[in-house]
Amino acid sequence: MDLTQLHLTLSLLMVGASILAVFLSFYAWKRRYNEAVLHLSFLMAGAAIWTFFSGMELLSTNFTHMKVFVVLCYIGITTIPVFWLLFAARYSGNDDWLTSHNIMLLFIVPLFSMIMHATNGVHHLFFTSVELVFSHGFAFLQIEYGPLWWFHAVYSYIALTLGFLMLASMFFKVLGSDRLPIFLFLAGWIFPIVANALYITGLRPLGFIDLTPLALVCTLIIFTLGIATTKLFDITPFAFDVMFNHIPDGIFVLDSNARMINANKPARKLLRLRTEPRRGDDSVYRDSVHYKDIFSPSDGKSHISIKKNVYYRTNTPINNSRGRHLGNLIMMRDVTERMQAEEALKEHKAHLEELVAERTADLMKINEELQQEISERKRTEAELVKAKENAESANMAKSEFLAIMSHELRTPMNGVIGFTELLLEGELNEKQRHYTELVQKSGRSLLEIINDILDFSKIEAGKLELELLDLDIRGLLGEFVNTMSPRAYSRSLGLSCNIDTDVPRLLCGDHKRLLQILTNLTGNAIKFTTEGEVTIEVSVESQYDDAVLLRFLVRDTGIGIPEEKTGMIFDKFTQADTSNTRKFGGTGLGLAISRQLVNLMDGEIGVNSELGKGSEFWFTARLGKLPHIGQAETSDKGDLLQDC
Ligand code: ADP
Repeated sequence: MDLTQLHLTLSLLMVGASILAVFLSFYAWKRRYNEAVLHLSFLMAGAAIWTFFSGMELLSTNFTHMKVFVVLCYIGITTIPVFWLLFAARYSGNDDWLTSHNIMLLFIVPLFSMIMHATNGVHHLFFTSVELVFSHGFAFLQIEYGPLWWFHAVYSYIALTLGFLMLASMFFKVLGSDRLPIFLFLAGWIFPIVANALYITGLRPLGFIDLTPLALVCTLIIFTLGIATTKLFDITPFAFDVMFNHIPDGIFVLDSNARMINANKPARKLLRLRTEPRRGDDSVYRDSVHYKDIFSPSDGKSHISIKKNVYYRTNTPINNSRGRHLGNLIMMRDVTERMQAEEALKEHKAHLEELVAERTADLMKINEELQQEISERKRTEAELVKAKENAESANMAKSEFLAIMSHELRTPMNGVIGFTELLLEGELNEKQRHYTELVQKSGRSLLEIINDILDFSKIEAGKLELELLDLDIRGLLGEFVNTMSPRAYSRSLGLSCNIDTDVPRLLCGDHKRLLQILTNLTGNAIKFTTEGEVTIEVSVESQYDDAVLLRFLVRDTGIGIPEEKTGMIFDKFTQADTSNTRKFGGTGLGLAISRQLVNLMDGEIGVNSELGKGSEFWFTARLGKLPHIGQAETSDKGDLLQDC
């Protein structure tokens, strides 16, 4: 290759290298998960500027243009060492001192150098002379370095060396697998440094051409390799880093000789170490009381008590992909609170178990008692049933006896009443007539009572059966009102009856018993009313296919019944006011009989009353409908009295 071709190739290589540098810079910029990558991105950008304008300078033959390109080259030349130092400091973790203030200070010299270089024409302190020299048919800038250039060069080399040292020390600290990228980062710099050293010292293989930017091409390629082997642009290592430094568990990293390589803050606290451990120097922590417990080679999991706390220790071997043992990872988790909670839980559980046992015993006891009580109750129930049966049969016997007795009493009573009637028809003096009338009145009352008792006894003994016949409800009530009118009249009371139009005229039922209920209620109404009137009303409560439920109401304007007594007056031998017996007579059986009769007619009975204002006695009775006879044709009562 002749020199023309070489010259052109070098220029194009530099421009090509600048494109690669731009790409790498952009790639790093996109993945600037931490400051190290950001600095690396700037470093690449600096390299891109240097290589690009170096290439342009080589291609150019115009003196002014060349000088401008050199000025632009110095943007990269002056800043690259500082960005390298920043990158190395961040990457190796020696970045505590990298405050923004200090970073700005680091850039003062590069900025100063750039300005001095750009203004060299005025002071000639950066370059004492710059000449355009034609050699081998090409144009070169022949430069003599001034004191400021040397100042800049020394500063740059100091920055480069510091960065080197940081990475080199890191190289010895980390495990084998992490050394490769560091090695590549270090090795990459050899080329430009050698090339630059040759250029500065005048050992220039290609005349005045500075090969440093070309050597940077090698650096960039090696850096690319370094980046590829490290997970520098992967967020995961940073996540691990964050985890390592912020996890509350203590983490120790030991090498294959069981020497501590790294320990996070909680781990250092356990050994009372103030600073990070230095590789190989185990004197600081070997004296620690807990050293043996923590670093015991036993694998797996165990609990260790340190002071008042309990730690859960796990010792995990670290092996590389080929299975070679590189070291161990010991994790110490403070489980004091958990242990205390577990202890408390155990106590609580034991307490609960005790309680449950106690309660179970109590429950068993209660259960036993309950069983006893149940069997006792069953016994008592059986006894009660028997007693009830006895009482019922006794009651039946009593009712039967009463029925027979009443029946037997009626015959002589009828005799007494009949003969007193005969006596009254004959001639008697005034005194005799008066006495005979009293006998007759008393006899009638007694007969009434006997009849009531007989009815009631019959019902209670279950011997009363309804006698179902056709009945004309209007005719029945008409006759009834006629019968009761004299009684009402004798007490100067009005008596009226109102039957709703929808009440069927012909029905089927026991008219005798229906009259008995009406007589009881209306008789009471007249008896307990001194002025006003008594009204009887009949309406339809509900209709069925074969029957109708009639509602009868007997309203009076009498003395009324206290509210608390309304519930009991339907019981046998019960009166609302016991003075009634003396004042109005009566046995307290009328309503009880009425209730039984209403029940037999599938109905209900009740009262609404207001003391001093009057009462409304009502009852319902289910009466059969006559299927064949039309209601209009049934006015003739003579046809009605037949069995239905
Ligand atoms: P008695 O033969 O005493 O009338 P009843 O069973 O017919 O027996 O009535 C029971 C009691 O109910 C009566 O003594 C009376 O106190 C009260 N009673 C019944 N009907 C009326 C009424 N219309 N007004 C006020 N009190 C009544």
